[in-house]
Amino acid sequence: MKIIAVGRNYAEHAKELNNPVPVGSPVIFMKPDTALLKDNKPFYHPDFSEDIHHEIEIVLKVCKEGKHISEKFAGNYFDEIALGVDFTARDIQQRHKEKGLPWELAKGFDGSAPVSNFLPKAQFADLYNLNFKLDVNGQNRQTGNTRDLIFSFEFVIAFVSKYITLKKGDLIYTGTPAGVAKVNIGDRLEGYLEDQKLLDFYIK
Ligand code: MG
Repeated sequence: MKIIAVGRNYAEHAKELNNPVPVGSPVIFMKPDTALLKDNKPFYHPDFSEDIHHEIEIVLKVCKEGKHISEKFAGNYFDEIALGVDFTARDIQQRHKEKGLPWELAKGFDGSAPVSNFLPKAQFADLYNLNFKLDVNGQNRQTGNTRDLIFSFEFVIAFVSKYITLKKGDLIYTGTPAGVAKVNIGDRLEGYLEDQKLLDFYIK
């Protein structure tokens, strides 16, 4: 399986990092399968970064293979959603952005993609009115609602599948709202989708 991620998909987050709000094409990057972190296992803080940021995101699970998927039918290609964290080594990313280099080392390191259990999307009345949030040590850090997405889930699936065949089991991290910040060893991260706590793990 592969992990595809969308950067800058909430305007307020793009602005907080002084990035332009994308128009027309989403920012897409990937993480290797070794980035996955399941079952609320702890995240071991790597020593190559001084500034690992949390990014709470809605994650889609692809349920069938497809390429050149039309936006109209893209909803048929995911049937479950989850909550995930797109951990980002912001210091490395900043250095690479300045030099125009790729982001893999800042985004794809081991454990950089915690993901919760998946829930059937049919459980949710409106996929574009989903509240989600991240608390760190009991204090709220990020809150989002999918109504604020710049590029819809269907648009992202259609866009990505023009370039990359999607396969059953692939995950799509759909972007983070504002409030990203550094995590520290000892922090407890708790993520909520609507009123359900789906993520609860520690930084070690
Ligand atoms: Mg992200």
